[in-house]
Amino acid sequence: LPRLLVLFLVLRVLQHAIERGLAALNHRYTNDPARRAEVARLLGISDAEMDKAIAYARDRYRFGAWASTIELLAALGFIVLGGLGAVDDFARRFATGTTEIGVGLVFYGILGLLTALFELPFSIYSTFVIEEKHGFNRQTLGGFFLDRVKGLILAAALGGPILGAILGIMQWLGPSWWLWAWGAVTVFTLFTAWIYPTLLAPLFNKFTPLPPGEPRSGIEALAARLGFRTGGVFVMDASRRTAHGNAYFTGLFRQKRIVLFDTLLEAMQPPEVLAVLAHELGHFKLHHVRWALLRSTLHTGLVFWLLSQALPLSPFYRSFGLAHSPHAALVVFGLWLGLLEFLLQPLQSAFLRRHEFAADNFALRAGACADDLSRALLKLREKSRLLPFSHPLYSRVYHSHPPLVERLAALRSTS
Ligand SMILES: [Zn+2]
Repeated sequence: LPRLLVLFLVLRVLQHAIERGLAALNHRYTNDPARRAEVARLLGISDAEMDKAIAYARDRYRFGAWASTIELLAALGFIVLGGLGAVDDFARRFATGTTEIGVGLVFYGILGLLTALFELPFSIYSTFVIEEKHGFNRQTLGGFFLDRVKGLILAAALGGPILGAILGIMQWLGPSWWLWAWGAVTVFTLFTAWIYPTLLAPLFNKFTPLPPGEPRSGIEALAARLGFRTGGVFVMDASRRTAHGNAYFTGLFRQKRIVLFDTLLEAMQPPEVLAVLAHELGHFKLHHVRWALLRSTLHTGLVFWLLSQALPLSPFYRSFGLAHSPHAALVVFGLWLGLLEFLLQPLQSAFLRRHEFAADNFALRAGACADDLSRALLKLREKSRLLPFSHPLYSRVYHSHPPLVERLAALRSTS
């Protein structure tokens, strides 16, 4: 095997070992009966509710262990056996007479379809065995497949043009191509975020304006008081798929919408809904959304610059069984990039967790009552059966939200 490929395989297996190790560490930590009882007492969670969370976490942990191992082995096996080169050959024969861009699009189309097919049984198991067993799944098999098909069509309709544009830019625009590619992706990202609430999200869910009365008038008053111009407050039929509850903001400029999951409205009192929204509005007022957008834009620029540096290194493509071409460069670079992103994950998570504390704090300053916010967070936890605590190291690497024990402790100390 080529040395670079061996290096890649070793690093990728090492990453997997670290990830599984962290998961095992967290699993052991959360299964400690004394710790569990202590957390339950602190947060006022009943033994029965704690048992449900533990059972759900255990099933997800086991599924994650075997599914991720099989997926990794299959992906590495595919690469070692020359799968990428074979797909490239096929794409070249299939797209003869077109341009190199046509070949690249067919290449990515086939890889995308293969990945989707391979992941299908895992997703079916996760939805119809695990989520079903714990009472979350509300989807039929037909609805599930319809979602997949819609997702694939959307990926082709949106991903195809931007991918074609990047491949063309890489081929034609000389050494400064990475700047143009960066610009193209940034415009594309803003465009998708802009059309998401009105054109894309409705393909998967139904959005109805929240009826007048509470909590709508309270939400509108809160948004007005904080100077947040909204394009409306909507309820999403999340219960069609899952019993997990949530709320979010979506869109850009005047298209901004407040979206509440129907599952959330079912479970909460109006003051609790308001407290959750005050937290979400905090993310806007404290510019977290703008920061996230800026971070991801800089990230994209850095990635394309790195790619432009790696582009001439043809041993990279040969060791993965590919000839030198823009699409080969993209896929091989993406594989190495995955390793780098894993190293950066704790940094990203740290940013996000800090923002969560700041948004909680903002909610209190905006007039939300700490008890309402605490109760709302506890209800959200109960609905989603998430464990309210986790091993600090595991949390540091993966969690975009602090464990509930820490969040509630912070709320108690500031109020
Ligand atoms: Zn938040």
